[in-house]
Amino acid sequence: MYYNENTLIFRDGEFELAAERSADLYAQGLHYGNAVFEGIRAYPTEAGVKIFKGIEHYERLIYSAGRMRLKCPYTPEQLENYTYDLLDKNGLDDAYIRPLVYAKPYMKLASGGDAVVVIQVWSWGKLYGDGHTRLMTSSFQRPNPKSCFVDAKVTGHYVNSILAANEAADHDFDDALLLDMNENIAEASAANFFMQKDGKLYTPPIGNILPGITRQTIMDLCEELEIECLEEHFKPEDIRKADGAFLTGTAAEVTPVSCIDKYEFPMPWAETFGASLQEAYRDLVYHRNPMPV
Ligand code: PMP
Repeated sequence: MYYNENTLIFRDGEFELAAERSADLYAQGLHYGNAVFEGIRAYPTEAGVKIFKGIEHYERLIYSAGRMRLKCPYTPEQLENYTYDLLDKNGLDDAYIRPLVYAKPYMKLASGGDAVVVIQVWSWGKLYGDGHTRLMTSSFQRPNPKSCFVDAKVTGHYVNSILAANEAADHDFDDALLLDMNENIAEASAANFFMQKDGKLYTPPIGNILPGITRQTIMDLCEELEIECLEEHFKPEDIRKADGAFLTGTAAEVTPVSCIDKYEFPMPWAETFGASLQEAYRDLVYHRNPMPV
């Protein structure tokens, strides 16, 4: 359960009991998936609770809302401040934060504009737990960027992730790795993908993926650690010659990938760049948050 009888949410400028709120059954967000959201984490640090890259996440939320023509009348700074208040009121310092802007009742297939702005917070572990994750190459492709704004975090896009994750689970894998419309590797259902090969890291360029905030953080950490990281397209057959791989995301943090389909990555995780980056990421979110520029 994500809430109990005391849990407070933020809704259109007010703090309200989650248990007393329900969404309007006629909301366009519910009928046609016209809603945008974010996934953010707060960490307990020596300096108290710190939201990791809160402004970047709220900038992306406002960008996504703009793409879907949904009104979100707040600045990133206001939304971040409301979130700190909400965490405090719920007594949480190690939390997942879920802002959602969803379209109000409007049954036409066009944006009506009016939206509800909600923020929910709860305790949530890593998306894939603490172990290694096993990926299956999906038969589903990521949405074609000519069919939607793939760089916006739109609720409706996640039907694609659900289909891919269901298929992977049916085949006893932890998650799916989806290709783009050109049969290049794109990303997992809710995380970006990196592979290590011959002393370099590779990750797909932006264009057909969600440009993850964690992905960018990892590329920044690569610079700090002097790891060469290239944004390049690659194919499933390239992965089958790789030494190691990992996923990145706010919920996933840095998650080792042990195999893709039948191919087991040969390098022990502890010796990979992924392991060093996983440690550097944890150090960053707990001890060096905000990240030095
Ligand atoms: N790709 C998809 C499809 C996602 O849903 C997410 C999670 N937001 C990511 C990548 C990782 O993004 P971020 O690092 O910003 O959480």
